[in-house]
Amino acid sequence: MKWRIGKVTVTKIVETEVTGGSRFILPQATYEEILPIKWLQPHFADERGRLKMSIHALVVEAPNGGKTPRRIIVDTCLGNDKEGRRIPTWNNLQGPFLQDLATAGFPRESIDTVLCTHLHVDHVGWNTMLANGKWVPTFPQARYLMGRTEFHRWHNQHEREDMAAVFADSVAPVFDAGLVQLVETDHRVCDEISLVPTLGHTPGHVSVRISSEGEEALITGDFMHHPCQIAHPEWSSTADSDPTMAHATRDRMLAELSSRPVLVIGTHFAGATAGRIVRDGDAYRMDV
Ligand SMILES: [Zn+2]
Repeated sequence: MKWRIGKVTVTKIVETEVTGGSRFILPQATYEEILPIKWLQPHFADERGRLKMSIHALVVEAPNGGKTPRRIIVDTCLGNDKEGRRIPTWNNLQGPFLQDLATAGFPRESIDTVLCTHLHVDHVGWNTMLANGKWVPTFPQARYLMGRTEFHRWHNQHEREDMAAVFADSVAPVFDAGLVQLVETDHRVCDEISLVPTLGHTPGHVSVRISSEGEEALITGDFMHHPCQIAHPEWSSTADSDPTMAHATRDRMLAELSSRPVLVIGTHFAGATAGRIVRDGDAYRMDV
């Protein structure tokens, strides 16, 4: 699946897509609440009101002044061989993600930038891969951009063992290899691509804005986990570190995104994954 924004292209590489089992993350999204939101079907919910969710990476290609185009991978999913994850099915994955990436035209050596919207488990996994019993950078030619606030939040944190494991196997090895560049939440990556602070899910969370030839797109990251939050911006995810701020961020971003044509590409949105936000009564909907 591919989108074009002016001279920029975005390609979705899916690691896993699931139906149901997501209520732990959005407890207010009961079947009874989801079923009446008809526009969620068929891409984002099934006919029983179960949520569909996806874990995917987005490869952004941007012009580079006549040189080889930039190849930026936004968020790197769960990764293979990882252990100590809180969700049992996220341990010891053996998926074909790297083959799928290469088949789509992006061998891992060709990626020049890795961009993590935040440092949660499902956004940093393929930062590293297991080679001869050691975690090594999956993208050896890339500079890994991580938010300064975000990095310091998870560095040396001792509250949760599973989050310490994520940092140790998926963040520390690329930092130790000298590949990490710590950036501010409004960092400009290149002419067409810049970060937008969308705080609340985590203290340093960012989204990614793409602008080219008068067209615009936004990669959400996790300020919204599922399109049902477009209809219910007040529904915070159990993973939001500051639910009040996360809600304020959704209100602000949805108002902005509905005010002009912006292709919104959801980091966990299944099926069609992208669309435009429009006003719908007191809230909004997404037209795919
Ligand atoms: Zn996530």
